[in-house]
Amino acid sequence: MTHAKNTPADKILAGPVHGRRTVVAQGRPSREEAEEAVRTLLRWAGDDPTREGLLGTPDRVVRSYEEFFAGYASDPMELLARTFEETDGYDEMVVLRDIRFESYCEHHMVPIIGVAHVAYLPRSRVVGISKLARVVEVYAKRLQIQEKMTSQIANTIDEVLQPLGVAVVIEASHQCMTTRGVHKPGVSMVTSRMLGAFRSDPSTRREFLAMIGNPSPAGSMF
Ligand SMILES: [Zn+2]
Repeated sequence: MTHAKNTPADKILAGPVHGRRTVVAQGRPSREEAEEAVRTLLRWAGDDPTREGLLGTPDRVVRSYEEFFAGYASDPMELLARTFEETDGYDEMVVLRDIRFESYCEHHMVPIIGVAHVAYLPRSRVVGISKLARVVEVYAKRLQIQEKMTSQIANTIDEVLQPLGVAVVIEASHQCMTTRGVHKPGVSMVTSRMLGAFRSDPSTRREFLAMIGNPSPAGSMF
């Protein structure tokens, strides 16, 4: 990806508005202001932003943030807009498992790394499977808590595809817990949101949980 100086702001200004984006384009700091903020943090940490090794750091951090938080510029509803109805009556669940994601904890701004498993029970139309992974990605590339991200993914699929049911399970490790605070490496958090048949029908839910298998032993996955 190449970034002209103002590309991300322009993208956000031109981007879709759907109530799911939380960025208000007006008042967005300039790239220079963002870089200055990084210099402030470097000084606050006790280092010297003018020494050689740190000279390019504010620029690199800001570029990294453009990647980490690219999800603010995309509309997940739009990703699912194109659906296919020629399914020859396919009416079993569609499961996409082990969708790896990297997100950032909105409380500490450190990584949440994990996998998402997404399933839905089509009513009449299906969506390209890569689109399900993209929905996970768009929500992951924002500041998150895992519970909210789980709900957002499930609710978006439910709202756009109006299937008979949606299930989302996320297993993730939170660096705010593993590298600071209580320092508990190897701990992973599991969240789920079940809608429609996955919520009301225990056998549908069981089938889904069997398909995604047992969570990997903590720590071995991330
Ligand atoms: Zn945190």
